Amino acid sequence: MVRGEDAFCPSSGSRLSLDRHFDELARPWRVPDASSESAELTTGADKSSTTALKRFFRRTHRSERSDDTMDRDLLRVAARHIETLKRSTEARDEWVWYALCERLHREGFDVGWMRKHVNPVCPHCGSELTADLAPKGEVLPQCAVNCRDDNRFVEGDIADAIRDTYNEAFAGTDAGALDRGHLQIA
Ligand SMILES: [Zn+2]
Repeated sequence: MVRGEDAFCPSSGSRLSLDRHFDELARPWRVPDASSESAELTTGADKSSTTALKRFFRRTHRSERSDDTMDRDLLRVAARHIETLKRSTEARDEWVWYALCERLHREGFDVGWMRKHVNPVCPHCGSELTADLAPKGEVLPQCAVNCRDDNRFVEGDIADAIRDTYNEAFAGTDAGALDRGHLQIA
Protein backbone atom coordinates (compact mmCIF):
# COMPACT_ATOMS: atom_id res chain seq x y z
CA MET A 1 0.00 0.00 0.00
CA VAL A 2 2.68 2.45 0.87
CA ARG A 3 5.04 1.33 -1.84
CA GLY A 4 5.44 1.88 -5.54
CA GLU A 5 2.78 3.29 -7.83
CA ASP A 6 -0.05 2.83 -5.34
CA ALA A 7 1.64 4.77 -2.55
CA PHE A 8 -0.60 7.31 -0.92
CA CYS A 9 -0.42 9.98 1.75
CA PRO A 10 -1.37 8.32 5.07
CA SER A 11 -3.40 11.30 6.27
CA SER A 12 -5.14 12.62 3.15
CA GLY A 13 -5.14 9.55 0.90
CA SER A 14 -3.67 11.53 -1.99
CA ARG A 15 -1.49 9.64 -4.37
CA LEU A 16 2.22 10.20 -3.73
CA SER A 17 4.76 11.21 -6.30
CA LEU A 18 7.18 8.56 -7.44
CA ASP A 19 9.92 11.16 -7.16
CA ARG A 20 11.75 11.32 -3.89
CA HIS A 21 13.05 14.52 -2.43
CA PHE A 22 16.02 14.23 -0.13
CA ASP A 23 16.29 16.34 3.00
CA GLU A 24 19.42 17.43 4.85
CA LEU A 25 19.74 14.01 6.48
CA ALA A 26 19.42 12.33 3.07
CA ARG A 27 16.06 10.83 4.02
CA PRO A 28 13.88 10.22 0.98
CA TRP A 29 10.53 11.99 1.24
CA ARG A 30 7.65 11.57 -1.12
CA VAL A 31 5.15 14.35 -1.61
CA PRO A 32 1.41 14.16 -2.26
CA ASP A 33 0.19 14.92 -5.77
CA ALA A 34 0.04 18.52 -6.89
CA SER A 35 -3.74 18.13 -7.04
CA SER A 36 -3.81 17.31 -3.35
CA GLU A 37 -5.23 19.72 -0.84
CA SER A 38 -2.61 18.54 1.62
CA ALA A 39 0.91 19.86 1.25
CA GLU A 40 2.13 17.65 4.03
CA LEU A 41 5.38 15.84 3.43
CA THR A 42 5.34 12.19 4.22
CA THR A 43 7.46 9.12 3.88
CA GLY A 44 4.36 6.98 3.91
CA ALA A 45 3.23 5.22 7.02
CA ASP A 46 2.19 1.75 8.06
CA LYS A 47 -1.20 2.94 9.27
CA SER A 48 -3.25 5.39 7.29
CA SER A 49 -6.21 7.44 8.43
CA THR A 50 -9.80 6.39 7.83
CA THR A 51 -10.14 9.19 5.30
CA ALA A 52 -7.00 8.14 3.45
CA LEU A 53 -8.17 4.54 3.18
CA LYS A 54 -11.61 5.57 1.94
CA ARG A 55 -10.08 7.77 -0.71
CA PHE A 56 -7.66 5.05 -1.72
CA PHE A 57 -10.54 2.59 -2.03
CA ARG A 58 -12.55 5.04 -4.10
CA ARG A 59 -9.65 5.77 -6.44
CA THR A 60 -8.58 2.17 -6.97
CA HIS A 61 -12.20 1.06 -7.43
CA ARG A 62 -12.71 3.70 -10.10
CA SER A 63 -9.47 2.78 -11.84
CA GLU A 64 -10.77 -0.77 -12.25
CA ARG A 65 -13.96 0.29 -14.05
CA SER A 66 -13.74 0.64 -17.80
CA ASP A 67 -16.55 3.20 -17.93
CA ASP A 68 -15.18 5.40 -15.13
CA THR A 69 -18.34 4.97 -13.08
CA MET A 70 -18.56 3.93 -9.45
CA ASP A 71 -20.59 1.32 -7.67
CA ARG A 72 -22.34 3.44 -5.03
CA ASP A 73 -23.47 0.41 -3.03
CA LEU A 74 -19.95 -0.92 -2.82
CA LEU A 75 -18.49 2.47 -1.88
CA ARG A 76 -21.06 2.95 0.87
CA VAL A 77 -20.54 -0.51 2.37
CA ALA A 78 -16.76 -0.31 2.05
CA ALA A 79 -16.71 3.09 3.76
CA ARG A 80 -18.70 1.68 6.69
CA HIS A 81 -16.37 -1.32 7.01
CA ILE A 82 -13.26 0.87 6.83
CA GLU A 83 -14.67 2.92 9.72
CA THR A 84 -15.32 -0.24 11.73
CA LEU A 85 -11.85 -1.60 10.98
CA LYS A 86 -10.06 1.62 11.91
CA ARG A 87 -12.07 1.87 15.13
CA SER A 88 -11.38 -1.73 16.09
CA THR A 89 -7.82 -2.55 15.16
CA GLU A 90 -4.32 -1.11 15.21
CA ALA A 91 -3.30 -3.33 12.30
CA ARG A 92 -1.21 -1.93 9.49
CA ASP A 93 -2.74 -0.95 6.15
CA GLU A 94 -2.01 -4.22 4.39
CA TRP A 95 -3.99 -6.33 6.87
CA VAL A 96 -6.83 -3.82 7.01
CA TRP A 97 -7.04 -3.91 3.21
CA TYR A 98 -7.10 -7.71 3.07
CA ALA A 99 -9.65 -7.92 5.90
CA LEU A 100 -11.84 -5.42 4.06
CA CYS A 101 -11.49 -7.48 0.88
CA GLU A 102 -12.49 -10.64 2.75
CA ARG A 103 -15.54 -8.96 4.28
CA LEU A 104 -16.75 -7.49 0.98
CA HIS A 105 -16.14 -10.76 -0.83
CA ARG A 106 -18.25 -12.57 1.77
CA GLU A 107 -21.03 -10.09 1.14
CA GLY A 108 -21.03 -10.95 -2.55
CA PHE A 109 -19.11 -7.98 -3.94
CA ASP A 110 -16.68 -8.62 -6.78
CA VAL A 111 -13.52 -7.28 -5.16
CA GLY A 112 -10.76 -9.48 -6.57
CA TRP A 113 -9.21 -6.31 -8.01
CA MET A 114 -8.38 -5.13 -4.47
CA ARG A 115 -5.58 -7.65 -4.30
CA LYS A 116 -3.72 -5.91 -7.12
CA HIS A 117 -3.34 -2.83 -4.95
CA VAL A 118 -1.62 -4.36 -1.97
CA ASN A 119 1.74 -6.00 -1.42
CA PRO A 120 1.85 -8.24 1.62
CA VAL A 121 4.81 -7.64 3.90
CA CYS A 122 6.52 -9.70 6.56
CA PRO A 123 3.98 -9.98 9.41
CA HIS A 124 6.81 -9.94 11.95
CA CYS A 125 8.90 -6.94 10.88
CA GLY A 126 7.12 -5.26 7.96
CA SER A 127 9.93 -5.95 5.48
CA GLU A 128 9.31 -6.85 1.89
CA LEU A 129 8.89 -10.50 1.03
CA THR A 130 10.84 -12.73 -1.26
CA ALA A 131 9.42 -15.84 -2.84
CA ASP A 132 11.22 -19.11 -2.41
CA LEU A 133 10.63 -22.71 -3.28
CA ALA A 134 9.23 -24.79 -0.45
CA PRO A 135 10.30 -28.45 -0.13
CA LYS A 136 7.25 -29.61 -2.09
CA GLY A 137 7.95 -27.21 -4.94
CA GLU A 138 5.36 -24.53 -4.20
CA VAL A 139 6.50 -20.92 -4.22
CA LEU A 140 6.07 -19.41 -0.77
CA PRO A 141 6.90 -16.03 0.77
CA GLN A 142 9.76 -15.42 3.11
CA CYS A 143 10.92 -12.30 4.93
CA ALA A 144 13.53 -10.53 2.78
CA VAL A 145 15.72 -9.87 5.82
CA ASN A 146 14.99 -13.18 7.55
CA CYS A 147 14.09 -11.27 10.72
CA ARG A 148 13.37 -14.38 12.77
CA ASP A 149 16.60 -15.99 11.62
CA ASP A 150 14.82 -19.26 10.86
CA ASN A 151 14.15 -18.98 7.09
CA ARG A 152 10.49 -19.59 7.84
CA PHE A 153 7.79 -19.38 5.21
CA VAL A 154 5.36 -16.74 6.36
CA GLU A 155 2.18 -17.46 4.38
CA GLY A 156 0.50 -18.93 7.47
CA ASP A 157 1.53 -15.94 9.57
CA ILE A 158 0.13 -13.61 6.91
CA ALA A 159 -3.20 -15.46 7.00
CA ASP A 160 -3.16 -15.15 10.82
CA ALA A 161 -2.58 -11.39 10.60
CA ILE A 162 -5.47 -10.95 8.15
CA ARG A 163 -7.82 -13.15 10.16
CA ASP A 164 -6.92 -11.44 13.45
CA THR A 165 -7.60 -8.04 11.87
CA TYR A 166 -10.90 -9.26 10.45
CA ASN A 167 -11.97 -10.71 13.78
CA GLU A 168 -11.02 -7.60 15.76
CA ALA A 169 -13.45 -5.64 13.61
CA PHE A 170 -16.19 -8.09 12.68
CA ALA A 171 -16.28 -11.01 15.15
CA GLY A 172 -18.91 -9.23 17.24
CA THR A 173 -21.13 -8.43 14.25
CA ASP A 174 -23.52 -10.50 12.15
CA ALA A 175 -20.55 -11.58 10.06
CA GLY A 176 -19.15 -13.63 12.95
CA ALA A 177 -15.55 -14.65 13.62
CA LEU A 178 -13.30 -16.47 11.18
CA ASP A 179 -11.69 -19.67 12.31
CA ARG A 180 -8.17 -20.68 11.41
CA GLY A 181 -7.81 -21.48 7.74
CA HIS A 182 -11.09 -19.96 6.69
CA LEU A 183 -9.97 -17.04 4.56
CA GLN A 184 -11.78 -17.10 1.23
CA ILE A 185 -9.56 -14.56 -0.47
CA ALA A 186 -6.22 -16.13 0.46
ZN1 LIG B 1 10.53 -10.07 8.77
